[in-house]
Amino acid sequence: MLQSKIFPKTRKEAPKEAESVNHKLLVRAGFIDQLMAGSWTLLPLGWRVVTKINQIIREEMNAIGGQEMLMPLLHPREIWGETGRWGSSKDNPLGAQEIMYQFKDIRGREFALSFTHEEIVMDLLRKNIKSYVDLPLYVYHFSTKFRNEPRARSGILRAREFMMKDLYSAHVSEDDLMDFYEKAKRAYSKIFTRLGFDFRITEASGGVFTTNRTHEFQVLANTGEDIIFYCDKCDWGQNKEIFNGKAGRKCPKCKNGKVIEAKAIEVGNIFPLGTWYAERMRVYYTDKTGMKKPVWFGSYGIGPTRVLGALVEVSHDEDGIIWNPVVAPFDIHLIELPGGKAKEVYERLTKEGRDVLWDDRDVAAGEKFVDSDLIGIPVRLVVSEKTGDKIEWKERTSEKIETLSLEEILQSLRK
Ligand SMILES: [Zn+2]
Repeated sequence: MLQSKIFPKTRKEAPKEAESVNHKLLVRAGFIDQLMAGSWTLLPLGWRVVTKINQIIREEMNAIGGQEMLMPLLHPREIWGETGRWGSSKDNPLGAQEIMYQFKDIRGREFALSFTHEEIVMDLLRKNIKSYVDLPLYVYHFSTKFRNEPRARSGILRAREFMMKDLYSAHVSEDDLMDFYEKAKRAYSKIFTRLGFDFRITEASGGVFTTNRTHEFQVLANTGEDIIFYCDKCDWGQNKEIFNGKAGRKCPKCKNGKVIEAKAIEVGNIFPLGTWYAERMRVYYTDKTGMKKPVWFGSYGIGPTRVLGALVEVSHDEDGIIWNPVVAPFDIHLIELPGGKAKEVYERLTKEGRDVLWDDRDVAAGEKFVDSDLIGIPVRLVVSEKTGDKIEWKERTSEKIETLSLEEILQSLRK
């Protein structure tokens, strides 16, 4: 891809209202654009990264039996009335009116914009699940979610409209649900490990989803809005909202480690929902003896656009973003300076299957280097009159510059 064609151009200054690092750097580097508070366009560079994040999530969801589909975002009031979530939390602990966008159309019909899909999946199940042989079932989708967020800030981390991967599982028993819940937890751990995060799994309350305890995946970050407590020796962890204790004390689980307090960014949340939804929406299956029983149900969410913001919060320096190669918008940033033989390098690398951003612009070398650090592609190659038939190789995470031949570069990229 030619950098002269990339939309839009990079910006020297961050927007005045930008406070968080992800807001400043992602806007300056041309990954995202703000329409209004909490509402963002993923520009071509941002969409490239989110597409790669989604692919990692998709692979791990498919590996545990997930079937991908796509559900609607516009929901009738009636379906939310069945569980009582259309109402306010004042009347019902799971009432979600405060975060749900609800409106009437011109004929007076009432609708909601999707903030989650439990009720929609329940409707699918009651139409299609008859007997125990139809279970278990795991379905998921990537789609937009809307939440009436009173404090839409922190860049793309806290938005009113954002992307979500949500998986739903249906089971014949609590045991089967909890077996899969643990499997999903391990799949989530794989995803966040592949993304390069230093994260902890913490117990948390279920918000407007369930009165059961749930698990959150929390990325350790000084700029995080969540406060978590975790053990320095074992896997124990809790969100501040449910932790009843102090940092520095002995771990309540292993009695050996110490409780650490840390700021974190929540990037995933899993919910063992039980039979609450099935009982309210009358989703029953027939067991081996012919008895009708409610379906056991779980849901599992990851916010890919929030992951995009979290990646920048934990991986940047004063010059710009530092992308993990697995989600970088391009593999290689090829900088062409006067007299450099860029075309051959670009063609060979592209032929080898590398995603290359070729800075073909007629601007000063200094400007090209500044933009390269800002955009944060893992490998920078420079060709110029000075390098001749050789190429300068520099990694975004290092100051070391090596001068190599094209063959040597192709070889080291194959490693
Ligand atoms: Zn412990």
